[in-house]
Amino acid sequence: MDDRQFRTAMGKFATGVTVIATDVDGDVHGMTANAFMSVSLDPKLVVISIGEKARILEKIKQSQTFSVNILAADQQELSMIFAGQLKEHREVEFDRLDGKPVLNGAVAQIACEVSTVHVEGDHTLFIGRVTDIHLEDAEPLIFYSGKYRALAEAVTV
Ligand code: FAD
Repeated sequence: MDDRQFRTAMGKFATGVTVIATDVDGDVHGMTANAFMSVSLDPKLVVISIGEKARILEKIKQSQTFSVNILAADQQELSMIFAGQLKEHREVEFDRLDGKPVLNGAVAQIACEVSTVHVEGDHTLFIGRVTDIHLEDAEPLIFYSGKYRALAEAVTV
C-alpha cells in the first residue's frame, strides 16, 4: 500500500469542512480541517487532528484554546483561504464566542479549551472541552474525494 492509495481511501469518507481558529496575543490564525469528530457527551469533548508542519500547531499549544467552525455551503472560499489555496491574502473578520475567534455564518461555532494532547505519527490530536456553541440554520459544505460538494437528500426507498 502506498501513500496515494491510503489518501484516496481516506478521501472516500465524505465529511463536512471546518476552519479551526486560535488566537495568540490577539493574533488570530485559522486552518481548514476535516479531521474533526465528536468524542464524548458527558463531558462534552471533540477531537481535531493537526499535521506536524501546520503553523497553527504551535499556536494552539500556546493558547490552549481553539474554535471549530463548521462551514456552510456558501463558505467554500473561506475553506480555500484557510487551506492556503488562494494566491492573494484576503482579510477575514472574526467574531468572538466565549472569547475564542469564530467565523460568522458558519453552521456551527464550537468554542473549546484543550483538555489533552496526543502525538500520533505525523499528526497531533487535540481533545477539546467544549465551552460554548452557536448554531445557524444553514446547509453545510461537503468534502469528498478531494472535491467540494453540496448535500442532497437521499432517494427514499
Ligand atoms: P498557513 O498555511 O499558515 O495558513 C493557511 C492559510 O490561512 C494561509 O493562506 C493564511 O494566509 C491563511 N490565514 C491564516 N490565518 C488568517 C487570518 N487570520 N486571516 C486571513 N487569512 C488567514 N490539515 C490538517 O492538519 N488537518 C486536517 O484535518 C486538514 N483537513 C483539511 C481539509 C481540507 C478540505 C483541506 C482543503 C485541507 C485540509 N488540511 C488539513 C490541510 C491544511 O488546511 C493546509 O495544509 C493548511 O495550509 C496548513 O495550515 P497552517 O497552519 O500551516 O497555516
